[in-house]
Amino acid sequence: MAQHTETLNWDTLTSHFEYRPLDHTSTPRASNLYLRLAPNQTTDIYSFATEFAYKIAVDIKAERQKYPEKYQRPKEDDYLLDDATALKISPTVQRLHYQRKTEIRACTHHDDEDTRFSRDDGYSYYDSGRSFSDGFEFNCDCALPLRERKVHAFLRQYRQNGCYMFERVNGAATFNMNVTMALLVHGELDLVLRICSHPDVDYQYWREVQQCQCVGAEEGWDQLYRLALRAYLVLNIMRQFPKLRVPGPKRTTPYTETYRDTKLYQEIVYECTNLEAEVPGLSHYYFFGMTEKTSKTVFQRRNMAKMNGPGAHLLPPSFLNFLDRTPMSPQAIAFLGEYGFPYGHAPFEVFRDEFSESSLPHETEREEVCHLLRSTVLPEELVIQVMDEAGYNGRTRQLLVAHDPLAEENATILDHYLAECWRIMVQCSVFAHGLGEDIKWKQEVIWFLRHNIRGPEGQLLEYVGSEMS
Ligand SMILES: [Zn+2]
Ligand SMILES: [Zn+2]
Repeated sequence: MAQHTETLNWDTLTSHFEYRPLDHTSTPRASNLYLRLAPNQTTDIYSFATEFAYKIAVDIKAERQKYPEKYQRPKEDDYLLDDATALKISPTVQRLHYQRKTEIRACTHHDDEDTRFSRDDGYSYYDSGRSFSDGFEFNCDCALPLRERKVHAFLRQYRQNGCYMFERVNGAATFNMNVTMALLVHGELDLVLRICSHPDVDYQYWREVQQCQCVGAEEGWDQLYRLALRAYLVLNIMRQFPKLRVPGPKRTTPYTETYRDTKLYQEIVYECTNLEAEVPGLSHYYFFGMTEKTSKTVFQRRNMAKMNGPGAHLLPPSFLNFLDRTPMSPQAIAFLGEYGFPYGHAPFEVFRDEFSESSLPHETEREEVCHLLRSTVLPEELVIQVMDEAGYNGRTRQLLVAHDPLAEENATILDHYLAECWRIMVQCSVFAHGLGEDIKWKQEVIWFLRHNIRGPEGQLLEYVGSEMS
């Protein structure tokens, strides 16, 4: 699938953005891209969004034509997923079991009962003190039990829930929603459209879902296309600023800011790799090379101390000024804890250490180490043990040059990733149509740019309401 990076008019779009480093005379709020506030800004940015929406619409139409126009309504007892598909998505689904240990295999536990909630109908919000997840438990240790492959499982309904009740009320349906998202991530659109042809499917209610009123909407399938869109826009925009590429293999003093130190970039990496919902973030984790969110911590005093200690020479003077200006009172710590990391104020290395447990090796590095160890007198078991302990047997990263997607050596991988982002956006639209919904791409593009790239004084891109339909 074409990804249109070449055909979209990025030049005109980014001619309206200006990069300001922390030591810019205007003392910007963060190292970031800012609107230049040129007179034709609104017209140009809106025409970029219109063009984006037009090009994606062409691809959405072409994508839909690859599949049957009408599907026969599947029966509840049919298996939607065959063994091969189940195995294909099992590694993704496995991540949904959290602490539970599961195996990736084609489940053969036919005797497992179909599981829905004990009271599918007549659920009342006010009954939420009772257990509604009766019967939803896993009876075998297969990552994707056979019963979860039945059409039945895809017909679970969304219910409103009170605080802390999301898992109990919607746990079963959430598991299935994630299976469907895994199908979309793996490009199994045909199966997704087949299930959408069943009148009882209610994924339209799963587009934006939050655990309860107190938290953000992170559980829905909007995350799939929204993250893809954001990563696609940010990386393409940053490509238009060649001066912001990382200068050499290793950063040296004096410290030079690059695209990775900007608020825009750090926020997108954070968003893409620290979601509550596992499946939508998956391809982004691998691409950005962040490790599991074991350290989903907030930016707190220990990091402040770390930055004033060894390694502080890496920090730009303006960031040290920022530290000086920020009294570390309990309130200040609470503020940072609540609002998170000061994106665009800390160098990328500090950001990375905060949110990623360790650095992932590349496949070639893994092979090299393995080869080296095998050339010694070490017995094979010990080679494996050493590799394990050194973190070389788990996941590997995709980028040749770690944590620098815009490095020239990473160009092919970057293109592939952007094409994947585009595919997800296109296929999510086809999925949306299957539910009688629509994704308003022009609105999505404008919304993202408006909220993330502002004028030097925080000026917002004008909102042209009538053009947003
Ligand atoms: Zn099983
Ligand atoms: Zn709540």
